[in-house]
Amino acid sequence: MSRTDAAGHPETSGCPGCGAVLAVVPGLATDHPGASPSCAGLFRVTVRGLREEAAQDLRAAALLRLATDAYDAQHLLSGTPAAAPVRLCLELERAHDPRPAAAPDGRVDQAAPRSLTPPAHWTTTVADLAADLDVVDLPALVHAWADAVWHDWAPAHRELRAAADGALTS
Ligand SMILES: [Zn+2]
Repeated sequence: MSRTDAAGHPETSGCPGCGAVLAVVPGLATDHPGASPSCAGLFRVTVRGLREEAAQDLRAAALLRLATDAYDAQHLLSGTPAAAPVRLCLELERAHDPRPAAAPDGRVDQAAPRSLTPPAHWTTTVADLAADLDVVDLPALVHAWADAVWHDWAPAHRELRAAADGALTS
């Protein structure tokens, strides 16, 4: 997955989470477990505007949350609770539930399955998102990305939906 330049330094590397192949930025450290530094950095830049607006704008805050859950659902560490795909389920499929839609994170963590195998292939990554940002609005891109990530998790939908319902009712 990685190419090297003449001096033997890698020019690109594949993200261990989402598989996005991105240029290696020398000296860039990752702030996201399960992600390559370049991938985590690209996500940080892509949602920076949302992060700045989120304090005053509820829609930006909801969009930031959806983007973060989509990103986290592609960068799970094995053996940790699959809380991010459970939150995606709540946001995409339980948004109109009459019960409080936002199950507290602690409950989601408790209900989240721990032994799921993440999808081997992802339809859309943050690299696709960033590439389309010039021609498509960020909200439309984030929603399409979140839908694609949730769809990629399809083999585990039964467990994830059960956990989402558990987080709502427990
Ligand atoms: Zn990644």
